[in-house]
Amino acid sequence: MHVILFGAPGVGKGTQAQLLQKEFNIPQISTGDMLRQAVAEGTPLGLQAKKLMDKGELVADDIMLGIIEDRITRSDCQKGFILDGFPRTIPQAEGLSALLKKHNMPDFTCIEIAVPDEVIVDRLLKRGRADDNEATIRHRLNVYQSQTAPVKEYYKQLGSFVSINGNKAIEDVYNEIKQILTTQVA
Ligand code: AMP
Repeated sequence: MHVILFGAPGVGKGTQAQLLQKEFNIPQISTGDMLRQAVAEGTPLGLQAKKLMDKGELVADDIMLGIIEDRITRSDCQKGFILDGFPRTIPQAEGLSALLKKHNMPDFTCIEIAVPDEVIVDRLLKRGRADDNEATIRHRLNVYQSQTAPVKEYYKQLGSFVSINGNKAIEDVYNEIKQILTTQVA
């Protein structure tokens, strides 16, 4: 099962990915978590990424594609995986398609979790992560609109895009995602 959980920061991709990971026994791949780990370890990537993450800017596409290729070719990904926070730009989506071809992996089902901006701002202020102050949150939402939202069209054209309402209880969102995944071969 190959799934992309898509949507703005704070829509609940991470929460849903963790639930799916347990149920289907395939790994959650969160590029945000991977970058935060690099920051915590103080690696060269972490030092570079931290400045961008603090400002709510995106890390460069070639760096992200390198991280993803390294991760999806590990043995725990043989039965599939859940992408959470990647791809975030058209070049990342195109690069991912090329990687899937290169490694003989099937295409993805892209599931958008849609939540209104004001609900997102509220949720993120409550979450309180280092990059969750109001100015950075609003900037991340702008970056999402300009750079990430166009990726939807990419997956719509591939015929593998579904959008669901994420402005409801975690369990209700989860049941909807599960239903999509069990009725579609992903
Ligand atoms: P997230 O936890 O997914 O909201 O990611 C936190 C931050 O990490 C983002 O605001 C970006 O600065 C960076 N990041 C995570 N994933 C990506 C990606 N696919 N492309 C570029 N930057 C990313």
